[in-house]
Amino acid sequence: MQGMSLNQPGRLLVMVRRGPLSLTAEQVRLSVSACGVCRTDLHIVDGELAQPALPIIPGHEIVGRIVELGNGVGRFKLGDRVGVPWLGWTCGECEFCRREQENLCPSARFTGYHIDGGFANEAIADARFAFPLPENYTDEEVAPLLCAGLIGWRALHAAGDARRVGLYGFGAAAHIVTQVAKSHGQEIFAFVRPDDEKAAAST
Ligand SMILES: [Zn+2]
Ligand SMILES: [Zn+2]
Repeated sequence: MQGMSLNQPGRLLVMVRRGPLSLTAEQVRLSVSACGVCRTDLHIVDGELAQPALPIIPGHEIVGRIVELGNGVGRFKLGDRVGVPWLGWTCGECEFCRREQENLCPSARFTGYHIDGGFANEAIADARFAFPLPENYTDEEVAPLLCAGLIGWRALHAAGDARRVGLYGFGAAAHIVTQVAKSHGQEIFAFVRPDDEKAAAST
């Protein structure tokens, strides 16, 4: 496989080539067709998030087709198109995991931060944290939904059917939320800092 690796924060990514790693029972190997760039990737590359597992291949909005299955994977088959998000692995045993709040698991491992991500031609993911993807989106269209879209959906869902929705900050998630909320007839108010105003006005 070939990928772009972060060896040291604050430095450019460098191309690496490696032989394939073998899969555990729960993992799948993907041929990567698209991977979004999330703001968090930039924070990791710039050294603004503590202790990435270096060297690391960033990228956690991965779209790919399954080319190999671990022998315990039942929910996917070869050739399936799947998405791989930021949350890459959790312990399954702590109080948060048992309450279906795995995103709060203190032992969670994240794609492109602790686990090699999608800025590569191949990626390995835990199938339990990968999503089946509908075919009515292109690879490039669906990739940003795997982080920005997912976060936005959670926020919009939490807001319920409120007629007016306030967004604090206006980045990738908010610009997707705004489009969905407008299609539902909701009004959006974005609270931004001076530098964010242009982005908010152009949506
Ligand atoms: Zn992200
Ligand atoms: Zn846990």
